[in-house]
Amino acid sequence: MKFGGTSVGSPQRMKEVARLVEQNDRSIVVLSAMSGTTNTLVEIADYYAKSNRESANALIGKLRTTYMNHVRNLYSTEEVKAKTADFLETIFTTLLSYGKDAYTPRIGREIVSKGEIMSTTMMTNYFNEQGIKTVLLNALEFMEIDADKEPSVSNIATKLQPKIDAYPDAQYFITQGFICLNHDGEVDNLQRGGSDYTASLIGAALRAEVIEIWTDIDGMHNNDPRVVENTQPVHQLHFEEAAELAYFGAKILHPTCVLPAKAAGVPVKLLNTMDPTAEGTVINSIFREKEIKAIAAKDNITAIKIVSSRMLLQTGFLRKVFEIFETYHTSIDMVTTSEVGVSMSIDNTDYLASIVAELKKYGTVEVDRNMCIICVVGDLIADNVGYESKITNALRNIPIRMISYGGSNHNISFLISENDKQAALQALSKEIF
Ligand code: ADP
Ligand code: ASP
Ligand code: MG
Repeated sequence: MKFGGTSVGSPQRMKEVARLVEQNDRSIVVLSAMSGTTNTLVEIADYYAKSNRESANALIGKLRTTYMNHVRNLYSTEEVKAKTADFLETIFTTLLSYGKDAYTPRIGREIVSKGEIMSTTMMTNYFNEQGIKTVLLNALEFMEIDADKEPSVSNIATKLQPKIDAYPDAQYFITQGFICLNHDGEVDNLQRGGSDYTASLIGAALRAEVIEIWTDIDGMHNNDPRVVENTQPVHQLHFEEAAELAYFGAKILHPTCVLPAKAAGVPVKLLNTMDPTAEGTVINSIFREKEIKAIAAKDNITAIKIVSSRMLLQTGFLRKVFEIFETYHTSIDMVTTSEVGVSMSIDNTDYLASIVAELKKYGTVEVDRNMCIICVVGDLIADNVGYESKITNALRNIPIRMISYGGSNHNISFLISENDKQAALQALSKEIF
C-alpha cells in the first residue's frame, strides 16, 4: 500500500491511513513525504546552493514549527510525543548544519530525502502507539540504483526479503518511498513523484498480491481533472494503457511505475484515501476491445524539425540524427518523417543547444518551444476503424504540429501548442466520452 503526500498530509490524515491499513493482512506500507514538504526541501536546497543561508534557515524554522504541531496533534501519550519530537529535532539540526559546508548536489539530495524519513518515522510511532505491531524499514538499506540510475527488482528482493523474514510477528512494515542509494553509495532518489515507483518495485520484488496506490482521487480519470470538468474514473486499464497515460502526463501515476508491476504480473489498484469505498482503477493484463479509455497531456515539450534535401532518401540519415540525441542522453517522445525531413519532440532541453548545433551539420533546423503532447489511449488497433477519424475530427479547430499513430496499438498522439491544450482536451472529452 502506497500513500501519497496528501494522504499523509496532516495528523488527521495519518490517523485515517492507519485505519485503512489495519483492515488488511500483513502489508508493506510505502509513504511519501507530507504534502508540500518535498517542495520546501527543494527550496531549502536551492537557497543553500545560492549561499543564502538566512532564507534556508527561515524555511527550516517554519517547517520545524509545522512538524512540532503535528506531533502534538498526532499522539496521545507524552512518551511518544517526546520520542518523535526528539527524532524530528535531529533532522532539523542536520538540515541547519548543511549550511556550514559548501553546497554540493549530494547535499541537495540528502536534504530532499528528509521528508520521507520524517513521515515514515512519525507514522511508525503512531501505529505502535496504537498497539499495531509495525516495523520501520530503512529504504536506503534495500533500494538502490545503478550507474544508469536504474533499480533492479532482483537486488531489491535479495536485500528486502530477509528483513521481512526477520520479523515474523510484525503485522505491518512501513518504508520510505522516493529515496534510494546510488551507485556511489550516496543518498539519491527516484525522481519527483517516485514513491509510486518504490511501491511497484517492492510489490514486484516480493510478488505481492496487489500494489495499491492510495491518493487523493478515485482512480485514473478519463481526462486531466485539473484541466477538464466532469471527468470520470476509468475502472480498468491494461498495463500498457496505464503506462502510456502516465508517461504522457497523467500525474496520478509516476511514468516508470507500471513496468515492474507488469513484468511481475502484479495488478496495480489506484484508490482514493478520501473515499476508500470508491471502486478506483485496476491495472492488469486484460485488454478491453473497442474502448477509448482516457486522454492525457504532457507539457513543456520542445519540437525539433530537421529538413535536409541533401539527405533525401539516403540510408543512415535517421541513424545519424538519432545518434546525436543518444550522445546527449536525450530521449525522443514523438517522431514523424517525410521525404525531406524529420520532426521529433523532446521534454528534456538540458542539451538542446548542443543537439541543434550538431543537427545543423545535416540540414536546416527549426525549434518550437512550449508545445504539448495530447495522447488518446485505448483500443486503437488498425482494425478498429472509425476512432482515429473521430479523434482528429474533435481537434478540427486546433493547429496540429505533429501526429503519431501506429507506434503501439493503444495510442494516438498529437503535438500542439500549450496555448491550445485546454481547448483540445475539452473538445476530445466532448467528442469521445
Ligand atoms: P500523490 O501525492 O498521492 O502521489 P499526485 O498529486 O501525484 O498524488 O497525483 C494525484 C493527482 O493527479 C490528482 O489529484 C489529479 O489532480 C492528478 N491527475 C492528473 N491527471 C489525472 C488523471 N487522468 N486521473 C486522475 N488524476 C489525475
Ligand atoms: N515526496 C516526493 C515528491 O514530492 C515523492 C513522491 O511524493 O512521490 O516528489
Ligand atoms: Mg504522485
